[in-house]
Amino acid sequence: MRNPLTIAVTVVLTAATIARSDEPAARWWRHMQALANDGMEGRNTGSPGHKRAADYVAAEFAKAGLEPAGVGGYIQSVTFNTRKIVEARSSLALVRDGKTEPLVLGDDANIGLRIDPAPSVEAPLVFVGYGLDIPERGIDDFKGVSLKGAVVVYLSATPRSLPGPLQAHFGSAEERWKMYRAAGAIGTIGIANPKSMDIPWARSTLARLQPAMSLADRAMDEAPGQQLSVTMNPARADKLLAGSGHTFAKLIALVDEGKPVPSFALPARLKATTTVERASVESQNVAGILRGSDPARRDEYVVLSAHLDHLGIGGAVNGDTIYNGAMDNASGVAAMLDVAASLHEAGARPARSIVFVAVTGEEKGLLGSSYFAAHPTVPRARIVANVNTDMFLPLFPLKTLMVLGLDESDLGQDIRATANALGIGVQNDPEPQRNRFVRSDQYSFIKFGIPALAMKVGYEPNTPEAATAAAWTAERYHAPSDDLNQPIDRSAAAKYVEVVKDLAVRIANRSDRPRWNESSFFKRFVRSDSYD
Ligand SMILES: [Zn+2]
Repeated sequence: MRNPLTIAVTVVLTAATIARSDEPAARWWRHMQALANDGMEGRNTGSPGHKRAADYVAAEFAKAGLEPAGVGGYIQSVTFNTRKIVEARSSLALVRDGKTEPLVLGDDANIGLRIDPAPSVEAPLVFVGYGLDIPERGIDDFKGVSLKGAVVVYLSATPRSLPGPLQAHFGSAEERWKMYRAAGAIGTIGIANPKSMDIPWARSTLARLQPAMSLADRAMDEAPGQQLSVTMNPARADKLLAGSGHTFAKLIALVDEGKPVPSFALPARLKATTTVERASVESQNVAGILRGSDPARRDEYVVLSAHLDHLGIGGAVNGDTIYNGAMDNASGVAAMLDVAASLHEAGARPARSIVFVAVTGEEKGLLGSSYFAAHPTVPRARIVANVNTDMFLPLFPLKTLMVLGLDESDLGQDIRATANALGIGVQNDPEPQRNRFVRSDQYSFIKFGIPALAMKVGYEPNTPEAATAAAWTAERYHAPSDDLNQPIDRSAAAKYVEVVKDLAVRIANRSDRPRWNESSFFKRFVRSDSYD
């Protein structure tokens, strides 16, 4: 919530903006204002604010002449189970030498509710370093320890020897759980590397009292059998390691130096009690189709996606409780709406069809896109590519485009050609350890074998732009200050919209379907029915 003075200033700026519609990205900015204003209440999955935002997107899709591609309209309704912790009736404690040491929830550690936790757990703790078992890469962090019935303690980090996209894939909670479950574990404690934490503990812990969600569709449970998921404050990690002969500082230094990290049983057991309030909510994916013109290819689809949801209303930071999610990700949805409108204005009819989909539940774990990819409203085997936009960060001029998945499929050639024609360079993710390739909705499509790209405004390391991006992440990412009152480079937004539009048209006009590169790890997800 803003103070009245700030509101007055916003209104003046808004009026000035509308008056000058010749400014770069004027239409994009109008969508930003519509989606990220305080009245949308942060567009939390399942909230009335998100529903209002979804109705806005549907109306804009209609204006842009898109065919409805939801279920009985533009909306595809998605049902979620929600879980909220009752902290007063939940607890964590370490039992060592018969003595019980409580861990303070919110301060030392938090119990994660993306999984459905068991009411109580008591189990031995085993530290497993990076916590990865990847035989095809010769990685076995479980060697010499038994995880049977244990709670696995791992560093949320991946070895530098793995290529970036593999770090991203195997570092995900879902892939990790597959490994831990196969080894007989019943739960997890993750400890972040403080150097690569996007959100400082003091801020991330504010979100612990918000309801967590999973898809009601039980076939889509990503953590079967997991009884407990704990996130440890790295500043308190030595509480776990006490008596082991190891310290967190030394272990994390091994990660930072790219060295192997040992695995060992901890001389402690964990006792957990979790009390949860359960409910269910509906939220909305919104989908529309620009129908293609070529009779042979119009039933094939290029999917443009961007998540519409954000974090809603939560813990106050500087007196503000509305997490507007202007960059994350009103900006991406606004870009998609702008692309749809400008293709409509131009009367564009690419050969293949283009599906525009604004998805819900991204912040809850890519849930809306998972649902869409599992229950697509067009035949999945006919989806030829996905291009996703999440928080593209127009903070400075767009000279270089950061492309996630650049070297994974021949879509890399399409984005290189598109960017080149607009005088923009391309780069891979300069920070693969942040797992960005699997941290947004493109991953829901990749898991079904659909070649995908995601893009952001890029920057070179050790430049003022890199510092600006880092400061943005530290100060505004998942904070109420990611709102309409922040510095935004509208010329970068305008250029980004051009990139997405030209790329979508280029892919839609390709003679052949996009393919994963032979060398790509993600090629393995291609389904036998993917190329019919
Ligand atoms: Zn986010």
